[in-house]
Amino acid sequence: MERVLVTGASGFIAGHVIAELRAHGYAVRGTARRSVDGVDVVTADLTSDAGWAEAVDGCDHVMHTASPFPAGSPKSDDELVRPAVDGTLRVLRAAVDAGVKRVVLTSSVAAVATGHREEKVRTEADWSVVERSPAYPKSKTLAERAAWDFARESGLELVTVNPGMVLGPLLTPVIGTSTQVVHQLMARTVPASPKIGFVPVDVRDVATAHRLALETPQAAGNRYIVAGEHMWVREMAAVLAEEFNPRGYRVPTGSLPTSLLRVAALFDKTARLALDFVGRREAVSADKARGELGWTMRPVRDTLIDTANSLIELGLVPAPRKPAVTGSSGRS
Ligand code: NAP
Repeated sequence: MERVLVTGASGFIAGHVIAELRAHGYAVRGTARRSVDGVDVVTADLTSDAGWAEAVDGCDHVMHTASPFPAGSPKSDDELVRPAVDGTLRVLRAAVDAGVKRVVLTSSVAAVATGHREEKVRTEADWSVVERSPAYPKSKTLAERAAWDFARESGLELVTVNPGMVLGPLLTPVIGTSTQVVHQLMARTVPASPKIGFVPVDVRDVATAHRLALETPQAAGNRYIVAGEHMWVREMAAVLAEEFNPRGYRVPTGSLPTSLLRVAALFDKTARLALDFVGRREAVSADKARGELGWTMRPVRDTLIDTANSLIELGLVPAPRKPAVTGSSGRS
């Protein structure tokens, strides 16, 4: 049985990657900064050398998902860039020393599509413009570039998976940075949607992409974008409202004027982060993953509904205040 090390085993995507690997007959070890239910974990932090050699020892492959992904802007870019870049190099060095066969790195469309002035469909040939990128895309771009440089010098077999905005069922009651958009709409902690859009993808399909990136021989040396069509948050709200408002939820379907978002940004760090993306229509192509990995993606509507249902099941969304009214659209 082949053994895979999954770094950042406590994370949203990692939980699904671990489940996908186990379902396909792999043994899994994880790294984390704390214990993780049901996973054999070696303690390791991206900012320290301790633990990485032990973690990778005896593993055939590595999936490096760990990287800081906070909901707000950090005080300095280095808070994200240093753990992302230095941590990636620590993991890759340990992988080479242990003779692993392949490393799959969880990069992002944030390493592809950020900071470009011209709006066009981006592919794996594109790299985000670091000088015009906020801290998180900067950290992902610099970490992925460092990984490719290292792979070239060391001969390590590397594949990157570059997901869009990852949604889908939560495995633990932790609202992550990407799922918080659905949470804000379902819990109505925002009155309306700002003009912000994303390229969503289901976490279960992202996990499958990681496995395919590991198993497909020709994938070595390649980046793979996995994401769907661009969708404004307001369009996501419309899908959720149609499904859940008849059940008594009050998903807001209106638009938040950008002038109000600017006011909110004065005291709210998530609103401040959102300002960086206002009005931008990001578009990427996942054709390469479809063609070379045989990857497929479920409909975004299913992903949104499954995300919301898992938030409800985990008790993260307040119960509806009034009983559902049959026959009403329930829209607000
Ligand atoms: P997540 O749930 O926040 O997972 C991030 C993981 O990284 C956690 O396990 C976290 O550990 C770990 N981590 C952060 N800083 C660390 C450090 N200094 N040392 C060791 N571990 C550290 O987020 P996620 O959405 O699953 O993201 C996983 C990966 O996917 C990241 O590389 C992210 O950039 C990438 N990605 C995410 C999305 C998305 O929309 N969610 C899209 C594209 C790419 P703790 O639990 O200890 O904090």
